[in-house]
Amino acid sequence: MKIETQLPESGVGFGTNNRGASGEFQFGQQSTIDAALAVGTAWNAAHPDHPFSIGQISLKGGGPMPPHLSHRLGVDVDVRPVRKDGKNARVLITDPEYDRARTTALIDLWWRKAPVQLVLFNDTTVIGAGLSRPSPGHANHFHVRLRMRGATIKIKDRGSDVAELQTKLGIESDGRFGPGTAQAVEDFQAGHGLIPDGVVGRDTWKALGIT
Ligand SMILES: [Zn+2]
Repeated sequence: MKIETQLPESGVGFGTNNRGASGEFQFGQQSTIDAALAVGTAWNAAHPDHPFSIGQISLKGGGPMPPHLSHRLGVDVDVRPVRKDGKNARVLITDPEYDRARTTALIDLWWRKAPVQLVLFNDTTVIGAGLSRPSPGHANHFHVRLRMRGATIKIKDRGSDVAELQTKLGIESDGRFGPGTAQAVEDFQAGHGLIPDGVVGRDTWKALGIT
């Protein structure tokens, strides 16, 4: 997958930070940029006065982007927590300006509108809600890792690609890959000459018409 799509400096529902002089830190895979724009549009509908702020993604073409260990593949997106005053500025989860309710809603929206693999963020309330896991250095931003287009998904995964799968299978689309979804996948695989393992990899995506 190519890493050559640049996030606009601002858009519906979002602004940017730590972008680099020419936006060199905000390149991603097309699917990553599409997901960010989709979250922005949905966020703006509910919170028009509190745009979120996207930080570093990847360098054009990918590769190491110190000091990050990740951010190499155009699928990692840093996002500032939301401030009560709606400003695009730094905020720590311990600051009075930190808007826990809106930040929690924003992270939940990422899970619903994007193919999210994991979120790193240290607010214990957000962790308790099952929306993030703790990681050193994630008190002033949350880190979203997205799955690539056509990535393998299986039971316990969550995200917009799971919802897309469910729609294709004609089952309820809640974006959560539970036992019912696994059973529907196995039935689909059995009916299409695939190994019925309930895991959606390249061959199953292809049989579903998604590549
Ligand atoms: Zn990060």
